[in-house]
Amino acid sequence: MKTKLKIHKWPSKILRKKTKRVKEVDQVIKSILDQMYLLMKTADGVGLAANQAGLNMSLVVIEADGRIFKLVNPEITQREGAINFKEGCLSFPGIELDIKRSRKIKVNALDQEGKSLELELDGLLAVVFQHEIDHINGISFIDRVSFWQRARIKHKLRRIKKSNSQTLES
Ligand SMILES: [Zn+2]
Repeated sequence: MKTKLKIHKWPSKILRKKTKRVKEVDQVIKSILDQMYLLMKTADGVGLAANQAGLNMSLVVIEADGRIFKLVNPEITQREGAINFKEGCLSFPGIELDIKRSRKIKVNALDQEGKSLELELDGLLAVVFQHEIDHINGISFIDRVSFWQRARIKHKLRRIKKSNSQTLES
């Protein structure tokens, strides 16, 4: 299967947008989730949110710890503990940031068939879920770091912005 979707990089406005909840899980949504999964795999990522693919919808795909998730309207319902992890992001190529997150979380979501799920996640999976659910709420990982951490990666952000505008011109 081919996909026309592409990854939107910082500072694309759609990354700052809280996405719309999906009302019905139909064949179109199912197909979008499959295309997002393909795009994520092609880009060698562990997670992708729909707004990173330019779509204003509450959808995320995740593959980590040997498990695959294609989820609709995911929401964190419980948090416990703390964990520090070095994270990357497909919308911020070349940037890695140490982010403090909850160690354990519970998530409610619908699966690709529209069935409701309650997931309990910890460690790496909990981190990836928090990163992706942040995306559909319009939050990027650079919003989670201190002013000083952000100042340190300023030159890298500038480089991403520059390569973006070159792509647009070509
Ligand atoms: Zn990301």
